[in-house]
Amino acid sequence: MTLDEILVEIEHAEKIVIMAHETPDGDAIGSMLSMYLALKKMGKEADVIVKEFPRTFAFLPGANKVKTSSDIEKYDLAISLDCTDLKRLVGREYFEKAKKTIVIDHHSTNTMFGDLNFVNPVSPACCEILAGMFEYFDIEIDAEIGSCILTGIITDTGGFKYSSVTSETFEFTAELLRKGVNVSDIYQRVLETRTKSNFELLRRATNRLELLEDGKVAFTYINKKDEEEVNAEPGDHEGIVENGRSIEGVKVSVFIREKEENLYKVSMRTGNGSNINVSDICYVFGGGGHPRAAGAVVSGTVEQVKEKLLKEIKKVI
Ligand code: 5GP
Ligand code: MN
Repeated sequence: MTLDEILVEIEHAEKIVIMAHETPDGDAIGSMLSMYLALKKMGKEADVIVKEFPRTFAFLPGANKVKTSSDIEKYDLAISLDCTDLKRLVGREYFEKAKKTIVIDHHSTNTMFGDLNFVNPVSPACCEILAGMFEYFDIEIDAEIGSCILTGIITDTGGFKYSSVTSETFEFTAELLRKGVNVSDIYQRVLETRTKSNFELLRRATNRLELLEDGKVAFTYINKKDEEEVNAEPGDHEGIVENGRSIEGVKVSVFIREKEENLYKVSMRTGNGSNINVSDICYVFGGGGHPRAAGAVVSGTVEQVKEKLLKEIKKVI
């Protein structure tokens, strides 16, 4: 599958819809908005479907254009970004009905659910794939598009610190700096600023954090009740799982968050200095992600979910 085929589909389409995975992070939002802005430069007006928009990213250009739903039932083209599979895709009803579908992603567990699939698992962020794609399409990456792309790169690399970062990542960032993108401002906004609710959730999760299996597993959770009590909004749980991974000796950090009664969204991270593949563990539960950052959805109470996860984790630590 080549970039030319993607370009042809975009050029032929009139009604285009852009979407990404549920509980969108910086890479999902940055990918959607940069794609929206790039299509605009190509003379295309696209719809961006986001049901829960994290307020951290409200400063990005195009953020005020997103919709929670659309009147158009059958799009000419649907583009899925940063999403592994159809069941995690927000707006999948539009994707399923669209005449043509394109999947662009950087997860190795991507199920290739589009008519055209452009998946590069070594890319540190979906946004970095898009940067290369826009260059190939001869679309100028201006400061606006660049800000969206940089947001995805910064959030998905933990601020350029993961091993996924390549020399291209820095070269691209340098280019954005030259173009006037305020790298420092974006970095502070998306990584160094917490909402008060996020801080309160982090405080609760930190208090509850248990070190299990001889300190090799960090486990914590938050419930719906916690989120209500701290007036949490979409995205306010982000970053909590990172806390556990930095504790000396921890090989796997687990954070679970109540999605519905007896159903938990699992976030897993490989501890610093460990090389355990958490994507493989999450895959057992029907989830996936990256080797060092992955997730799944598991049923049960907190204790039951914890036991189910520990059983699999114990096999590899
Ligand atoms: P997070 O823990 O931040 O929600 O997700 C970490 C990584 O795993 C992200 O790249 C995310 O897209 C992926 N991921 C999270 N949850 C799931 C899931 O339920 N299924 C799959 N396939 N990937 C997930
Ligand atoms: Mn991503």
